[in-house]
Amino acid sequence: MAGTAATTAPTGTAPATGELIRFDGVTKRFGANTVLDSLDFTVDPGKHVTLIGPSGSGKTTILRLLMTLTRPDEGTITVDGQYLCHEEKNGGLVPAGEKHVREVRKNIGMVFQQFNLFPNMKVLRNITEAPVHVLGMSQDEADERARGLLDLVGLGDRCDAYPSQLSGGQQQRVAIARALAMRPKVLLLDEVTSALDPELVAGVLDVLRDIAHTTDITMLCVTHEMNFARDISDCVLMFDEGKVIESGHPDKIFTEPENERTRDFLSAVL
Ligand code: ADP
Repeated sequence: MAGTAATTAPTGTAPATGELIRFDGVTKRFGANTVLDSLDFTVDPGKHVTLIGPSGSGKTTILRLLMTLTRPDEGTITVDGQYLCHEEKNGGLVPAGEKHVREVRKNIGMVFQQFNLFPNMKVLRNITEAPVHVLGMSQDEADERARGLLDLVGLGDRCDAYPSQLSGGQQQRVAIARALAMRPKVLLLDEVTSALDPELVAGVLDVLRDIAHTTDITMLCVTHEMNFARDISDCVLMFDEGKVIESGHPDKIFTEPENERTRDFLSAVL
């Protein structure tokens, strides 16, 4: 298989398969470092999939590929039946056109380790900015939805605060509301509690548990919070050196892991 081709696909509808996310033979290298090694996995609509594994095993890179913050060297990535990039039979990698990628990305919300709120905007405006400017929602509708989402994350009374007036946990809950405001089909969560003081972690995880249990949103989650992973996941993928070395229902992965490296990892983190 070859590297990036010069051509750009103007559109990119994939054959209908039913999965919301599909990785086929995705390889990502940074120099000589193969971070993802011909990776295949799928996520069905409404499912919650958690990626676990040692630091540096490629988990965040998967989320960044879905956000098109980075591109693969090989392979095909499909979101909701639309290509983000597509490897042709001759081995060339065809990235989807920019306009198409923007459309595909409207289906994806991401919450980062660092909350990345706009510091100069009040909480409500942090949430309404993208729905108004990207989705073309009216300000009134966006405000109303944002208030509902702030209630959902337990911050209905902080609409007029600036991010700096909130705790880290509260800021992260605003970031979750902001991601949901775009009505994404899939929510990507990248170690969303790792930058928080320990006493603030539970509040954020409770909000995410609530969202997982009461909405039909699909979640792809990188976390070191194993109890949380166990509570919300339909499937856990254990990564090591850019490959899925074991996958399955959390009851199985956390109680009877088959792979020795999974056992070693879990005994170190549990
Ligand atoms: P994980 O999320 O499992 O900790 P990552 O996906 O963040 O792993 O990183 C996987 C590997 O890719 C690591 O070795 C990391 O150093 C490397 N890597 C990630 N981003 C870059 C980059 N922009 N440039 C070079 N190497 C990178």
